[in-house]
Amino acid sequence: MKAELLENKENTARILLEDTKVSLVNALRRSIINGVNTLAIEDVTIYKNTSFMYDEILASRLGLIPLKTPIELKGKGKFSFKLKEIGPKAVHASDLVPSDKDVVPAIPEMLIINLKEGEAIDLEAETAWGNGAEHSKFTPAHVFYHFYPKITIPNSKVKGAAKIASLCPVNILDGDKDTLSVKKGKLSECILCKACEDYAGSDVISVTSETNKIIFDIESWGQLTIKEILNEAVSTLEDEVKEIAQKV
Ligand code: SF4
Repeated sequence: MKAELLENKENTARILLEDTKVSLVNALRRSIINGVNTLAIEDVTIYKNTSFMYDEILASRLGLIPLKTPIELKGKGKFSFKLKEIGPKAVHASDLVPSDKDVVPAIPEMLIINLKEGEAIDLEAETAWGNGAEHSKFTPAHVFYHFYPKITIPNSKVKGAAKIASLCPVNILDGDKDTLSVKKGKLSECILCKACEDYAGSDVISVTSETNKIIFDIESWGQLTIKEILNEAVSTLEDEVKEIAQKV
């Protein structure tokens, strides 16, 4: 399998995978979703809650806050947070007071609750390690893939090219002066929606896909970096394959 990094931002990456199979790419996707260990809030002790929110809902919201996970501590230790607030106040993830400066909410501005005048919460929360197979709160990323697009324009001189180009939701078509083309370097951004083909007809512009080339997108929730997520997912996948081989 060949891999080329098409895009690499702080919490997202787009990778072009060639000479591969959908089954293998999907195994990697499933390993990221289900097989990577992260930290999340698991146990919550509520000393006071006079807010409109039931204790169970409050605890559930806390569990869904992505926590930065130091991978070198993998599987070790428990970390805790304290939260004592009184309204009126919008309480955010950044208001959680951590026991360890390295295990903090990955998205500090995430809203936990809007406390009204006089409403109060006082609680302690403890973390646990887990993976997405146990609970989706441990899943480190949103992952999806699609085939590499192939766009054929048999004759670039097209009456109404500007209109066709304007229909593209990701703006990758050029329709200047009745000449239709794909903007340079933008082909991989085609989302295969076929809006252009549906309007103009497949004799004017035809959109298909290359089944041996796959675009793989990862959007981290912030617990781990993209590199850490990929390393952990591949390592889990290797362990699973070894286990199967031993059992066969
Ligand atoms: S298939 Fe959709 S995204 Fe791709 S070029 Fe046509 S309109 Fe744009």
